[in-house]
Amino acid sequence: MLIKDIDKLQSTKNFIKNLSYDEIKDYFNKNDQQTFRADQLYLDLYSRRCNSFDEILTLPKNLRDKLTEDFHFYSLEINNVRYSSDGSVKFLFKLTDGNYVEAVFMPWYEADSETIERATLCISSMAGCPVKCTFCATGSMGKIRNLTTAEIVDQVLLASDYMKSDINNIVFMGMGEPLLNYHNVAKSISIFTDSRSSWLSRRKITLSTVGIPVKIKALASHPTPVKLALSLHATTNDVRNQIIPVLKNIPLEDIFSAVEYFYRKTKMPITYEYIPFAGLNDTLADAKRLAKISRRVPSRVNLIPYNDISFTNPQGFAKDLKPTPIEEVHDFAKHIRDFGGWVTVRDTFGQDIEAACGQLALSQ
Ligand code: SF4
Repeated sequence: MLIKDIDKLQSTKNFIKNLSYDEIKDYFNKNDQQTFRADQLYLDLYSRRCNSFDEILTLPKNLRDKLTEDFHFYSLEINNVRYSSDGSVKFLFKLTDGNYVEAVFMPWYEADSETIERATLCISSMAGCPVKCTFCATGSMGKIRNLTTAEIVDQVLLASDYMKSDINNIVFMGMGEPLLNYHNVAKSISIFTDSRSSWLSRRKITLSTVGIPVKIKALASHPTPVKLALSLHATTNDVRNQIIPVLKNIPLEDIFSAVEYFYRKTKMPITYEYIPFAGLNDTLADAKRLAKISRRVPSRVNLIPYNDISFTNPQGFAKDLKPTPIEEVHDFAKHIRDFGGWVTVRDTFGQDIEAACGQLALSQ
């Protein structure tokens, strides 16, 4: 379905989780209710995690009926759940207009125990994506539409409820470029970090972007700015323009200036995400430049093994992308370290459950 379909659906009856606290307060005030009703509803949604308006027993029945009349409760539903042997779980969500998005639950267990010590959820901000990075399955779909704030927030609520586990970290690294859906993503961050619900600290949320300078600066001025990860993948404009051709009008230097601005304003270290491709961006010169880039402001380089996307039938440049073998990724990491950079190699999750971002959604 098209963007106008979700707009049409929301214009007849909105989703409750599209509303900020202030908007909920205005709604109650317009309906001759006192402000404390907004606090009650907010806590029932995000702290007590009620699953329907009927469960919100802090509100009188007539108010629950009024809310049911005026708002939808959930904006998406779990359509499929895939369990990996490494413990990660991939969720396929179906949106109300029939589109699909994914989220991935990644647990870390206490030593010698089945108790989850902490859990991260990787969430989506769009159905499809307009950036079309050559290595990405979601990019091969093109953009379908931005997710609403409710659709972003509900991914976390439903995954947490299904797994019967708190989500301790949220990463905006699923389908879509979050900074190209800035309004809805920023509003979801405000909900996640609102002090009334004590849901998450802003330092437990990471937003990953390909680098939209003006929006990186906007995020730095958010009332609760979150951690920033930059999908870099190249150390020269020439190589980056091949990997992310849509952004060829944004030189790396402009992105680094925005990242430096972000650091000065928030004092939060940056992560540079980097997929090493054999013979393309994994040379000694790249390691040296990466180390230099990572010293501009406190930051680390996170090397990410490439997920195969041959199922999308890539053409041209994308077809020739080959991952750097994992032993050589560790050698590359050592070179970066030797040149004075801080670097980690990311764990891979869900290799046996359609690991590539967008793979399960594409299969629909
Ligand atoms: S990597 Fe991210 S920004 Fe690039 S196409 Fe995929 S979802 Fe979009």
